[in-house]
Amino acid sequence: MPGFLLDLDGTLYSGDRPIPYAADFIGWLRRNGHPFLFLTNNSSRTPEQVAAHLKQTGIPASPGEVFTSSQAAALYMTDEGLSGQTVFCIGEGGLRQALQEAGFTLLADDAPPEAQAAAVVQGIDRAFSYGKLMTAVRFIRRGARFVLTNPDHLLPWNGELTPGAGSIASSIERASETAPVVIGKPSPIIMRYAVAKLGLPPEDIWAVGDNLNTDIRGGVDAGCRSALVLTGLADEHNYKAQIAATGVTPELVCRHLMELADHIGSRS
Ligand SMILES: [Mg+2]
Repeated sequence: MPGFLLDLDGTLYSGDRPIPYAADFIGWLRRNGHPFLFLTNNSSRTPEQVAAHLKQTGIPASPGEVFTSSQAAALYMTDEGLSGQTVFCIGEGGLRQALQEAGFTLLADDAPPEAQAAAVVQGIDRAFSYGKLMTAVRFIRRGARFVLTNPDHLLPWNGELTPGAGSIASSIERASETAPVVIGKPSPIIMRYAVAKLGLPPEDIWAVGDNLNTDIRGGVDAGCRSALVLTGLADEHNYKAQIAATGVTPELVCRHLMELADHIGSRS
């Protein structure tokens, strides 16, 4: 019985719009008892908000079925022995909640120069500023870890491309002259946690998504099976060029998610 790591935006919904067959696919997974996780690089939403958004687009979901790059970042920092320490967070509600729930103390945005931080943890922050950049760089230059929730440098939003967490990270990296530890897809860090949560060997898990560089690369590198869906960043017109450009080849290419269900159903 294979399990599934499912990307969200471009795979199960597109912004606020449902994607055809996505709700059918989740229904099929539930009826057949396939283990799965909603696995997202988006650090801005809490698991509760992700589940609510899924419901809005027609897919019943519970927060416990969601695993975000923010939760993975908090787990990673705990595993690195930073439990209970004070950190500087550049991010939105999802990241702040994940860090606080894991027991980290968050410094204020206008932390005084003498403040100490064990790490700078950064995700998408649509209120990013020169002041936050300066504070982050100061801490990292003094030896704080630099942890990045996800490397996505551009996000499709209402038909245009907007700067993602990776673009903010580039400014911090440039000024601190320190590369971040990247948590989200395609990093093995989030993949390791996600595979462990499913409790299956990687070869029994399908990584599913619309992004070759993150969803599919992460899955392939983790030893999972992989299915690219042509409903988001990749579509019927561009996917061959994207495969050539990224050097990442998915095991399966599907026009929509029920093609994946049919592929698996016909083989079980
Ligand atoms: Mg996506």
